[in-house]
Amino acid sequence: MNTTTKESTSDLFVFTAEDPKEVQSTSIDAQWKILVVDDEKDVHSTTILALRGVFIEGRSLCFMHAYSASEAKSIIADTSDIAVLLLDVVMESESAGLDLVKHVRKELNRNDVRIVLRTGQPGYAPEVDTIRDYDINDYKTKSELTRTRLFTSLTVAIRSYRQIRQSEATRRGLESIINASIDLSRIQSVKNFADGVVTQLCALFDVESEGLVCAGNQYSNKEPPFLVMAAAGRYAQFIGKSLDTITDKEVVHRLYETLNLKKSTIGKGTCLYFPVSDSKGIAAYIDLSSKIDEIDRQLIEIFITNIKSGFENTYLQQKIATLAYFDRISGLPNRNSFIDFIKKEATECSVVAQIDIDNFSDINSILDLSFGDDVLRAVAARLLDNFPPPTRLARLGSDTFGLLGSQDAVNPHTIEAVFSDPFLIGEHSLRLSATSGLVVCSNESLNGINALKNSSVAVKQAKQLARSKCIFFDPAQSIAAKERLLMLSNLRSAFSCDRLFVVFQPFISLKNNQIVGAETLLRWKTDSGKFIPPNRFIPLAEESGLMVPLGKWIIRSAFREQRKFQMMTSDPFRIAINVSHVQFREPDFVETLAKAILEFDIDPNNVEIELTESVAIDNLISIMETLKQVRILGVSISIDDFGTGYSSLSIISKLPIHRLKIDQSFIRNIETDSSISKLIIQLAKELNLETIAEGIESEAQYKMIQDLGCTEGQGYLFSRPLTADAFEDYFANQIHAISAQ
Ligand code: C2E
Ligand code: MG
Ligand code: MG
Repeated sequence: MNTTTKESTSDLFVFTAEDPKEVQSTSIDAQWKILVVDDEKDVHSTTILALRGVFIEGRSLCFMHAYSASEAKSIIADTSDIAVLLLDVVMESESAGLDLVKHVRKELNRNDVRIVLRTGQPGYAPEVDTIRDYDINDYKTKSELTRTRLFTSLTVAIRSYRQIRQSEATRRGLESIINASIDLSRIQSVKNFADGVVTQLCALFDVESEGLVCAGNQYSNKEPPFLVMAAAGRYAQFIGKSLDTITDKEVVHRLYETLNLKKSTIGKGTCLYFPVSDSKGIAAYIDLSSKIDEIDRQLIEIFITNIKSGFENTYLQQKIATLAYFDRISGLPNRNSFIDFIKKEATECSVVAQIDIDNFSDINSILDLSFGDDVLRAVAARLLDNFPPPTRLARLGSDTFGLLGSQDAVNPHTIEAVFSDPFLIGEHSLRLSATSGLVVCSNESLNGINALKNSSVAVKQAKQLARSKCIFFDPAQSIAAKERLLMLSNLRSAFSCDRLFVVFQPFISLKNNQIVGAETLLRWKTDSGKFIPPNRFIPLAEESGLMVPLGKWIIRSAFREQRKFQMMTSDPFRIAINVSHVQFREPDFVETLAKAILEFDIDPNNVEIELTESVAIDNLISIMETLKQVRILGVSISIDDFGTGYSSLSIISKLPIHRLKIDQSFIRNIETDSSISKLIIQLAKELNLETIAEGIESEAQYKMIQDLGCTEGQGYLFSRPLTADAFEDYFANQIHAISAQ
């Protein structure tokens, strides 16, 4: 039987003067559950009567009844909040009562329930050890159960029960706060953190997910309005909206008050304040219907302290994330974000564009840096206007912006339109242009980095081919770029591993057919034995800066051999070196040349540098000074591949040069058309310059150029370029042949 009886109104007992005062309570529902366990029915009714109308600690009593130990077991197992057990020691057996006590404490692990033992005979009193071990509150003989004695005994037991429950609740509360903090510590966005706080608060106070709202301002550079960051139940519809949109104005008022006063108010309609630096703090309103007791109040305070640092951390993390994903100057997403956009949003038809502002470094260096920042902000604002969402916009680098969108939105026409009007920066109106590279996302470039890389290649292509224009990415160019890069890396290692060497091609006097000197030509033989022509790798060396150290090495290698060749003859032996424009423009070029002349003890009059026509006319003023210094050294200068460039007579006449090298293309065609060769030779004569014809391959060509009055020649007819050793042999043979004549 499992019956509960509210206290009876009839009083069958005669009570003594010890009558306690009946305590009135404000709480009607809350009752202490008392389980009476006794095999005598009378004891049940007597107990109820004795305690009729009694209030203990502000609550009335609710009796439950069991008539055997086994019945009691199941009632206790099913009812979690029994405060006191009024237990008969002797029931179905002599030890039935004490066995039940053991069961409650050991098996059911119920340590909060208080136990008052009762027995008919004093002889059945339990041992002191048992009372201590099983935490028995009181022991009474049934004759002692007067109303007052029972009341006193129960009051003591209930107080003790209450204390145990309170400390248990505090322990559990603290445990959930700690767990909440651990859970929350993993969250990185303030919004999610606020969500977590709502959930944890609901759990902590065992309230329905109703009537809970969390407001504050998310991390931002600007001063934002207070927002509903997270909410539960009927407030959920306001998440993300301004606090003022909440219809219950009392709640709005309480939240504002809390945020402005920066103080929590705990009570009905509890409003908690979490101070967070860098923001105005966060307030959480909980619509707690019941009164908050002391434990809850303490728990809330502990919760606030714990959660405060959590909010602090998430704000910080969010700030770091903001710095990592946004550009400070323009406020636009940065390169990291842009790669994410491509990864998540690009489809096969999307276009990725990279817009590079032309001459931005000039704007920065001529005007001050803050003006440069203003220019970037103005461009960012114009781009935002012209490319609204869903097109994505980001600042990718110092003067580059990225766009991701459909082909309709992002195309050369829309991009060029951005720069058609001048930009207003402060009081200045500034005209800007930009060079852009576009990529249509195909499957393989859906990976953000690839699409971005290809658009960079397109920008580079555009810069070379069509400055201030938009160019679509051309995969062939990208392959060529990769090959060039590979070749450059191989060239670097070839240079460091001595797989580069110089060869020499003789200059022949067309008057007496004697060797008068040689041109130094660079060779690169790869590991596989293949020769890479200098026309292919020298431009690479020039672009990469490798040409400067390489050029110095060529000069020294040439001089080393010149000494040997010179020793073979008493006539002057001229060594010619091709000098790249990159090398020639180095400030220490003349010094390098002079040092090498000294080092190898060479007569500078036997040294000639070959410059291509384009170097000579490119920037006459800047090279003139170097040319003069070269001449002062005693070194002569010849203009290589003459006739292929656009040098005007007036320029050539001003240069302190010695010789014109007639380009081999004119010699090749000389039998059909000798007019240009003729013209060059005449010009040279007028300017008092020497001439040398390149690429003489046949006797006929030799004859013709000789007839035209050219002084020297070079070409396969005489010899191909030779290694130093082979050249020595060749030279020795000729000297031998002459001396034999
Ligand atoms: P370049 O200075 O005009 O050199 C003459 C080129 O014509 C050499 O080609 C040479 O082998 C080639 N040649 C000579 N005689 C004949 C001939 O009868 N028929 C034909 N078809 N070709 C002939 P190479 O060695 O391939 O060099 C090509 C270019 O590479 C050179 O043109 C020069 O501009 C550059 N170069 C070569 N070595 C160096 C160097 O050490 N430094 C620099 N800066 N440039 C170099
Ligand atoms: Mg040359
Ligand atoms: Mg040449």
